Amino acid sequence: MEIKKILTKENISKDLEDADRYLMHTYSRQPVILRKGRGMKVWGTDGKEYLDFVGGIAVNVLGHCHPKVVIAIQKQAQRLLHVSNLYYIEPQIKLAKLLCAHSFADKAFFCNSGAEANEAAIKLARKYAKEHSGQEKFEIITALNSFHGRTLATVTATGQEKFQKGFEPLMPGFKYVPFNDVNALRSAISRNTCAVMLEPIQAEGGVIIPSENYLKEVRKLCDENGLLLILDEVQTGMGRTGKLFAYEHYGITPDIMTLAKGLGGGVPIGAALATERVAASFQPGSHASTFGGNPLVCAAAIATLETILEDGLLIEHCARMGKYLINRLEQLREDYHDTIADIRGKGLLVGLEINKDGAPIVKACLEKGLLINCTAGNVLRFAPPLIVEKKEIDHMVDVLEEVLGR
Ligand SMILES: *Cc1c(COP(=O)(O)O)cnc(C)c1O
Repeated sequence: MEIKKILTKENISKDLEDADRYLMHTYSRQPVILRKGRGMKVWGTDGKEYLDFVGGIAVNVLGHCHPKVVIAIQKQAQRLLHVSNLYYIEPQIKLAKLLCAHSFADKAFFCNSGAEANEAAIKLARKYAKEHSGQEKFEIITALNSFHGRTLATVTATGQEKFQKGFEPLMPGFKYVPFNDVNALRSAISRNTCAVMLEPIQAEGGVIIPSENYLKEVRKLCDENGLLLILDEVQTGMGRTGKLFAYEHYGITPDIMTLAKGLGGGVPIGAALATERVAASFQPGSHASTFGGNPLVCAAAIATLETILEDGLLIEHCARMGKYLINRLEQLREDYHDTIADIRGKGLLVGLEINKDGAPIVKACLEKGLLINCTAGNVLRFAPPLIVEKKEIDHMVDVLEEVLGR
């Protein structure tokens, strides 16, 4: 792949200086500047090629610059970029219909990110509960070690102190229980509880997969106590786990589900989906977003979703590649059982827990042209595009083996 202008080392370090000077230091980033991507690969401004097993943190489900998504964006950009939600637009209607046709949901609200989708879900749950169960119903129970976003409400919903520190006072009305513990959840329900909000699989928390029956029992508890079940599928949705939505693995449906990350195949879009009865609590004036579901992002999301759904082939492929990846990692563990503590995953959301800090490993892989990510301190998380092939998984595992062997 040709890159027009390959920058010199001096140019790049100057750009990195500018980055340091002009960007707020909210991220600990790798010292590379990425400029171009195709499929499973991205290229830096130094011309170096990388194999991408981060996939934009589960965003680039179809790989980089998938032609169907790119063309949909180009076409829409020429036709209409934005008009506000004072008017209807065709792509938003079509996307809502598609999402409802392929999920439990009857209605959709569109926004721009995962945190915003969860904000919408939280507001909708509170409003529904006040209307149907009384003014004292406002409390939402979430899981420890969860991740729901960085806005004040969603960082409060997030059951991890490290994300909340320094931003107190947090929002009232949240309570935390250990994940995968139905009894703890049962004990936490009070006269104020209105909803339970969970990730079907805790992704940022280190790819924590609940036991087979957990969500079924949570669903039952919610029904017995008149609580809404909100599933945060921002990371697990859009085919990632080998089903279009992760709840399909567990034989239940939520009342509200949130999506973002993979939804737009790379453009910023989020959605809160709900059943008819719950969605009815949002009326004109209840909630809004200027950019939410604008023509451009909806066109990209339609192209992404339609490509994923084509004969279900990509989702099947994702499930198969996920199994292959886990198998390869299990083989690796045979030689590195001192370093590798655990391997967990569903579809192409896979975690490799190691007995040491993951950051140096991520760095060493980067130097060898491989992008991987570490979450929860010591869990290497693989969320590659769903189009990944065996040969790329083999290459990734080879690089990882070289790095672990040092
Ligand atoms: C990434 C993520 C979010 C936050 O999404 P943003 O788009 O960064 O606001 C929320 N929930 C889950 C499960 C996520 O993985």
